[in-house]
Amino acid sequence: MAKMDTEIQLNQNAHIHADNFRNGTYSPTELLYKTLDYLEKLDTQLNAYISVMHSEATLAAERASSTVDSGEATPLTGIPIAVKDLLNTKDWKTTAASKMLSTYVPVEDSTVVARLKAAGAVIVGKTNLDEFAMGSSNEFSAFGPVKNPWDINRVPGGSSGGSAVTVASRVVPLSIGTDTGGSIRQPAAFCGVLGLKPTYGRVSRFGVVAFASSLDQVGPFARDSYDLANLLQVISGYDPKDSTSSQIPVPNFSSQLMHGLDGLTFGIPTGMLSSGIDPLVRSAFEESIKVLEANGARINRDIRLPSIEAALPVYYLIAPSEASANLARYDGVKYGHSAELGESAEETMFNTRGEGFGPEVKRRILIGTYALSAGYYDAFYLKAQKVRTVIRTEYEQALDKVDAILTPTTPTPAFELGAKLNDPLEMYLNDLYTLPANIAGLPGLSIPGGFVDGLPVGLQIVGRPFSEPTLLRIANAYQTHTDWHNQAPDVSCN
Ligand code: GLN
Repeated sequence: MAKMDTEIQLNQNAHIHADNFRNGTYSPTELLYKTLDYLEKLDTQLNAYISVMHSEATLAAERASSTVDSGEATPLTGIPIAVKDLLNTKDWKTTAASKMLSTYVPVEDSTVVARLKAAGAVIVGKTNLDEFAMGSSNEFSAFGPVKNPWDINRVPGGSSGGSAVTVASRVVPLSIGTDTGGSIRQPAAFCGVLGLKPTYGRVSRFGVVAFASSLDQVGPFARDSYDLANLLQVISGYDPKDSTSSQIPVPNFSSQLMHGLDGLTFGIPTGMLSSGIDPLVRSAFEESIKVLEANGARINRDIRLPSIEAALPVYYLIAPSEASANLARYDGVKYGHSAELGESAEETMFNTRGEGFGPEVKRRILIGTYALSAGYYDAFYLKAQKVRTVIRTEYEQALDKVDAILTPTTPTPAFELGAKLNDPLEMYLNDLYTLPANIAGLPGLSIPGGFVDGLPVGLQIVGRPFSEPTLLRIANAYQTHTDWHNQAPDVSCN
């Protein structure tokens, strides 16, 4: 007991835990006990978890402890990790934070979860999110909102809010989220941690509850670039079960971490930053640029992405359209919630969907169905797809000139709970800087980039397709010269 209390520090990053396992300072099982204790204590306030996997995690930690003892540990062996409750876990309920799936128990693991288990990671629980990953504040969960550990009156961002919060509050060093229009990067920024949306196709979507299939990607959260690289290494790669996963070989994501910034040029799309941004967020961003410049990077402020102003309407047509098709399967027959039998099959289905889905999900289904319906398809959906191609081409041209494009991750820091709940457009505007990367299929990384009024803000790095090693290299260089990522919220005073 004494050993656990004094030597195990939950604020350590995963690679430090891995060293301590190897040195025999503590075991994965000892770390897990301390993690679960702290998780239970904190979660009454923060609500980051939908379910906690006590016995499964204990078994996994015991197995990991033997692996360590036999000298066969790899970087994730025995590391506690949390997984967004949108990824299927075999024999463990996967709710998508929806009443519709509140009792759904998958028969198979998602590929990402299977890979984490095979790598010896210890999955401690399933994290809270906006229902079906639709939202930017985590207030649209059927299991109640998640609180931001920097200020519990504020949102943590969404939709992967629980995954960001549990890493930020130092319960676990790693977690998994999904990002369709910013759902990893925006909560990472609001909570002061790193979050990466990989290139579309880098990580398998098999077994992930689908929102908008041409935009969805799974990705990692961590507190430093080493840990992020190690986690990405485990989850990346071709999967025959996901035809959109890429066959491009997976590089060693840590190989360029120490390469520094010399020889790299970054583009700043100045036009994107002229309106709708909190001036203090803008100043924090400019400070970050100075750090990068002072350490060898070249900055090009002449990057143009003229069609980017159409990104928001394009996203909010394509994503709901795909969602309306993906969510058609929830009819109460094969999956999840079923209403009492009505007079007709149609009435039963109507009631099932009426009861099972929350307000934002219904709004998306309505928008999507409208955009896809005869007479409107060409005017809305088809047009949005054409503009998508234009946006993608503009990014390609810009990224011919520079190695990465930098912006703040969000136009403001975390807002107050309830502030945008009744104004969908205001809520959607939060995604201004994040959703273009999904539209163009590019990798995007948010790293802690300073504070505004005591709240963390993020620096976003968007790169060429499959340039994750470069993004991690930039993050590592920035983190060598800043200390933002080491700042922890004081959860005891909330
Ligand atoms: N906030 C965006 C939305 O509500 C993005 C969500 C996501 O990336 N899953 O659609």
